[in-house]
Amino acid sequence: MQQITKFFLITIPISFLFACYNPLLRVGKSERKLSLNHLDYSLERAVKQENVVPVVIIGSGPAGLSAALYLARAGMKAFIFAGAMPLGQLTQTTYVENWPGREKVLGPELMNDMKKQAQSFGSVMIHDVVTSVDFTSWPFNIKTEEGREFKALSIILATGATPRRLNVPGEQEYWGKGVTTCAVCDARFFKDKDIVIVGGGDSAVEMVFELSPYVKSVKVLVRKGHMKAAAAGLKKIESYPNASIEYHKEVTRIYGDGEHVTAIDVYDNEKESTQKVAMDGVFLAVGHDPNNKILSEGIALDKHGYLIMKDRTQEASVPGVFAAGEIQDPYYRQAIVAAGEGAKAALDTTSFLYEIGFNSEIGAELDKNFFEHFSDVKKELQEITTTKELEDLIMKAKGVVALDFYSLDCPCCIQMLPHLEAVAHKLDDRVKILKANYTLVKKTIYRDLALDYDIRISKLPSLLVFKDGKIQDINTKVMNKKQLYAYLAKFLDDK
Ligand code: NAP
Repeated sequence: MQQITKFFLITIPISFLFACYNPLLRVGKSERKLSLNHLDYSLERAVKQENVVPVVIIGSGPAGLSAALYLARAGMKAFIFAGAMPLGQLTQTTYVENWPGREKVLGPELMNDMKKQAQSFGSVMIHDVVTSVDFTSWPFNIKTEEGREFKALSIILATGATPRRLNVPGEQEYWGKGVTTCAVCDARFFKDKDIVIVGGGDSAVEMVFELSPYVKSVKVLVRKGHMKAAAAGLKKIESYPNASIEYHKEVTRIYGDGEHVTAIDVYDNEKESTQKVAMDGVFLAVGHDPNNKILSEGIALDKHGYLIMKDRTQEASVPGVFAAGEIQDPYYRQAIVAAGEGAKAALDTTSFLYEIGFNSEIGAELDKNFFEHFSDVKKELQEITTTKELEDLIMKAKGVVALDFYSLDCPCCIQMLPHLEAVAHKLDDRVKILKANYTLVKKTIYRDLALDYDIRISKLPSLLVFKDGKIQDINTKVMNKKQLYAYLAKFLDDK
């Protein structure tokens, strides 16, 4: 309580201090039922229900983690649902040079630091994906992919946005086989290849920096006569001899040989002509769409699907629902802005909770009921590093063994590792899941697999499934827990 009081003295307006100490705010005083919409915000009724948390944060990018930090420091344990892309879009970039106080820092490193800081104050990260949020009753009902169902007094939506696709023929067929949105993940597999980047924003420019050291040539195809990206980035592209920009160009079709991309159709919208061009890879940087599919009816979105905030707050149209980051920001879309909004959302949430009569004793009561439901059970994966381990644990092993090739600088790999650990626990000994750091073992284990067994990979992460020492499949899709479980269970005789 002392900690909470100190926090409020520093950060919130005087008017709110009075609200905090208003005796009418205590539970049991029905006077505090909010009448801002049709919902009944009676805390007395809410706390009698099963599985209620004070606040849930959906999304674990800069917005979600900054909100968690502020809430935790206010004495509120926030449950952060990591989502399908744990730690958000910055894990897909290389260097971030516009985060105040960090001259140059890798995106994944920055996000890991944010996570550690939020956790050090007591926030709890859960590797599960929220599948629906119902705003039609209060406390709000939330369901997750792993079958968790619970209620929240307040919610911070920080679900971000998802990279757009072109929706042209061939794109889906060659997804992961030359068509991708992640340069950081896939650059190393395009050594000495010809590739295009589609899009004219800052993401396209960043991709040039990431891809250029590996590829033979990289062409940025921009559909307009100019780029949208910042001038500083554009100027830097000029110093990359294998990079070029072409304007008025659109990709209208992607061709392949069944395994990989081999060519694209490029439409020149000035000359109104199409040319088929040989190509090894297509990197998409064509913007993002807000992740709003989990939201029920009853919350206001603009015509592009972004949440609408009230005035200068981070509160959505339903009291008790707050948002930060790209789910409500089609304009600035910067990590630092998302983090700032996360802090604002946490302060707004804290105000809301105290306004409905929440206090630290109620928090402690709810916490007691809840903590164990949220434990994230995992089994650490054994790391293989030697040819002998490859032979003993995979090639001579009976039953199903999965080997995950990952790398620490591959965001998609980092994203999938916690899911693999959770599935390893769930499948226990029925499927043995091992991991190998591609960067460290490419000249040992990977070379042996390629030379002795003719097993090759073209992407990270790659999950190799063996049965009785024989390769069954190589999966390159980034899968969540549910998908991984279903995928691996297919190889079991007793499925
Ligand atoms: P963006 O700024 O929305 O740019 C998307 C680009 O894709 C635009 O050039 C757009 O063209 C083009 N495009 C959209 N649909 C297309 C299609 N179907 N075919 C061909 N081209 C298409 O997206 P972004 O580059 O991902 O950047 C998003 C935000 O993140 C921005 O605010 C950006 O500043 C920020 N960001 C910052 C950094 C950094 O500071 N280091 C790095 C990356 C991103 P039109 O212009 O014709 O619409």
